[in-house]
Amino acid sequence: MRLKIIVNAIRCKNCLSVIESVDHHDMKWCTCGKVAIDGGTQYLKRTGLLEDYDELSYCVPLNE
Ligand SMILES: [Zn+2]
Repeated sequence: MRLKIIVNAIRCKNCLSVIESVDHHDMKWCTCGKVAIDGGTQYLKRTGLLEDYDELSYCVPLNE
């Protein structure tokens, strides 16, 4: 089952900034530069360490 990405977002645990990627090539860095996000609603891409951010993305099952 594939998932449709509704919101592609994370929160940096270090600087607490919430960043959201809204487009395929919309790469966003948090304020402190520890983590980044990309992919918009196409794919979930993260840069940085798993322990450095909280996942805030929201996906729903895709009806095919
Ligand atoms: Zn940060």
